[in-house]
Amino acid sequence: MLRCPAALIVCSLLGVGWPAAALTAQDASPTQRPNILFIFTDDHAPHAIGAYGSRFAELDPTPNIDALAQQGMVFRNSFCTNSICGPSRAVILTGKHSHVNGFMANGNRFDGNQVTFPKLLRQAGYRTALIGKWHLSSEPQGFDYWDILPGQGDYYNPEFISAEGRRQVEGYCTDLVTDMAIGWIEQQREEGQPFMLMCQHKAPHRNWMPALRHLDLYDDVQLPEPASLFDDFADNASPARNQEMEIDRHMNLVYDLFLEPDADWDPRAGKALDGSGFRNLAKMTPQQRQAWDAAFAAENAAFRQAKLSGKELVRWKYQRYMKNYLRTIKGVDDNVGRMLRYLDTSGLAENTIVIYASDQGFFLGDHGWYDKRWMYEESLRMPLIVRWPGVIEPASDDTHLVQNLDYAPTFLDLAGAEIPGAMQGRSLLPLLRGQVVPDWRQAIYYHYYGFPAVHQVARHYGIRTRQYKLIRFYQTREWELYDLESNPDERHNLFGQAAYHDLTATLAEQLGALRLSYGDHSAIGIPEHK
Ligand code: CA
Repeated sequence: MLRCPAALIVCSLLGVGWPAAALTAQDASPTQRPNILFIFTDDHAPHAIGAYGSRFAELDPTPNIDALAQQGMVFRNSFCTNSICGPSRAVILTGKHSHVNGFMANGNRFDGNQVTFPKLLRQAGYRTALIGKWHLSSEPQGFDYWDILPGQGDYYNPEFISAEGRRQVEGYCTDLVTDMAIGWIEQQREEGQPFMLMCQHKAPHRNWMPALRHLDLYDDVQLPEPASLFDDFADNASPARNQEMEIDRHMNLVYDLFLEPDADWDPRAGKALDGSGFRNLAKMTPQQRQAWDAAFAAENAAFRQAKLSGKELVRWKYQRYMKNYLRTIKGVDDNVGRMLRYLDTSGLAENTIVIYASDQGFFLGDHGWYDKRWMYEESLRMPLIVRWPGVIEPASDDTHLVQNLDYAPTFLDLAGAEIPGAMQGRSLLPLLRGQVVPDWRQAIYYHYYGFPAVHQVARHYGIRTRQYKLIRFYQTREWELYDLESNPDERHNLFGQAAYHDLTATLAEQLGALRLSYGDHSAIGIPEHK
């Protein structure tokens, strides 16, 4: 194979050499700088969004998000660097990989003293606010105003923490966060100062609790199953067989799917599970609880009578899980619509860039799983939709390989602010303008650190190009290689096959160069067959 110096590989992979100054927004005069509205959800997989092509498209799950896509740009190859809630948020704030910003796994505490894009936007004259889910443990910094959910937050009657203290607000979280976001914008309008607002929802995070108005939605529908619902992981390295995120063996009927405990239920089985659903049921008002129980009562009784087992039980659990997931997304979509209508009626739409994204993807029964964490496509992908009237061509697609690493440089660039050289992402501004960027990165780098932890997904890192993905499970010293063109659902691991030895060596070398360029010196691995 062709040998080239690591520096050259890095140049071609990362597309360096584009001077940051050339990317500055041409029309970013201090008086006309655009507002930035970042609507961010938790665990909303692109394949649950109509605009991304979804097996649920016939149900029209996201009409308002799809409308945003019609008016803006859809990033078709949008990925995270570390598929888990807190780390993704830290990457977004800093424009730096997890090993650089220090928030590598949930349970870490974000060092709020480091440089973040909200701080820099504030210095550049923006009013900045954060409303909703934060999930980084430390107190938010860099915001003129913040009002956050403690920890994961609750769906019903959630508590919020602001600089003034803690309070509980009655209502449904997605609606409340939108109310508060619109309220804050309304107050800012008089100021004549551009704003950057992060409107961050808990939904559709586990335990998938829909708004009362959506509890009956999809009741009369049988949702389509993914082809890999009963994946046997025959081709995979060992971690895929040793995880704890299967709908079959690990999704809990009581904690996750709201069955009443029966005689067989072992409360100790819940110790490692997220108990937030129980907590939130107990927090409901009597009226809310009555409506909730009434919505599930008949179906729960029928389930207990049917005494399902094996694949039929998995299928039932999949339907209950997926319907509640999509119902919480319907709540998100309603509120995206409400926000967009507010921007229209207030006259702010024209000069407000609206971004819709979520912190990672999610397994919607794909491979028999729920949750995220893996470098496999379903959890690696993030939705990214951007609307900017007058700049972004409506209904446009972008297929460059972009990551959440790029958001901080992009937001600074949109505001005409300087992008610190230490940020590891790259501004998406030229892509938003529809410009051809021949030196854009040809590969992305990924690293997941959260083991041991809930779901027991082994640590791994890897490289993804347009066509291939090479994953290193360094705790078990195993590899996986996929051809995403011929095998998009990654069920045929090509690693170790003689025909792919040269390709594997090339990708491994590129992976090493990427790791070097990003300063990730942990657990270097070399393919054993070389
Ligand atoms: Ca998440």
